[in-house]
Amino acid sequence: MVVVLKPGSSPEEVAQVARTIRELGFSAHVSEGLERTVVGVVGSAASRDEVMQALLALDAVERIVPVSSPYKLASSAHHAARTRVRVSQDCVFGGDAFSVIAGPCSVESEEQIVSTALAVRAAGASALRGGAYKPRTSPYSFQGLQETGLQFLAAAREASGLAVVTELLDPRHLETVDRYADMFQIGARNMQNFELLKEVGRSRKPVLLKRGMSATIEEWLMAAEYVLSEGNDQVVLCERGIRTFEQATRSTLDLSAVVVAQQLSHLPVIVDPSQASGRASLVAPLSRAACALGADGLIVEVHPDPPRARSDAQQQLRFDQFADLMRDVQHIAQTLHRLPR
Ligand code: PEP
Ligand code: MN
Repeated sequence: MVVVLKPGSSPEEVAQVARTIRELGFSAHVSEGLERTVVGVVGSAASRDEVMQALLALDAVERIVPVSSPYKLASSAHHAARTRVRVSQDCVFGGDAFSVIAGPCSVESEEQIVSTALAVRAAGASALRGGAYKPRTSPYSFQGLQETGLQFLAAAREASGLAVVTELLDPRHLETVDRYADMFQIGARNMQNFELLKEVGRSRKPVLLKRGMSATIEEWLMAAEYVLSEGNDQVVLCERGIRTFEQATRSTLDLSAVVVAQQLSHLPVIVDPSQASGRASLVAPLSRAACALGADGLIVEVHPDPPRARSDAQQQLRFDQFADLMRDVQHIAQTLHRLPR
């Protein structure tokens, strides 16, 4: 349930509401908006009626709204305003920001990642992606350069000033990846790896949470709930295509899920047109569509020489193709009063 406080409630009154909730064995999550404060009540300790009665007796409480969804902290009802996730000065998701993460599927060499970082920055990207630990369908495929790849990413950050987004595959790698990354990417295959979600929830670093390829929107938001419930509210959702009967594309980009997730949740939602389509020729049109319907950003695969890429060669864009994409997307973002970063 969500406790809506009267406009103008004092900090003492907010603290008293939170204390009352905690005394009854629940946790209280205070969210301050421009006009009013709401307090989310999460947990299942004491009886709900008891909590309702105790809270309605407080002066500052205007009303109590039950939240019927299984996710609470991820629900838009629990938040007075949309969440903004700040990865760096230049890379912000949510609100009027529109940010683009770009870079190769995998980090392959220092030269490859540094040259890509400089090219995508020049085109207007605000963060660099690149997998150092790769979740591959075949154990015989390239698995990533691991910590060496992370070091190359750090060199690329140094050279370009771009924030680094990279996938965390396994809780055992957390400390290492944490040393190099500015944002943890949780991949589609790990969306329901609950131990991993709890670990990144305990960190305070922003998390990019991909939608599982067979996950419903509710399951996706429940995965976000795992991260939020550990105290990390810096979560960006990423729609990356789902499995359907269609074979022409690698996955089917579920654009309506972007809007649905934005309606159900206060978290920013971005789109990965590269994993979704699996084909370079579809990446720009899908990016334009995602921007036009109000997505909070994009993550796009870009490689200096796509045919020679060690993973996902078919879907990566050349530098010039990415620059064209950015030009169009920035036009659309500006038309919609979003600030391209
Ligand atoms: C990737 O971004 O390279 C990737 C493996 O993504 P996903 O988890 O969405 O398949
Ligand atoms: Mn990829």
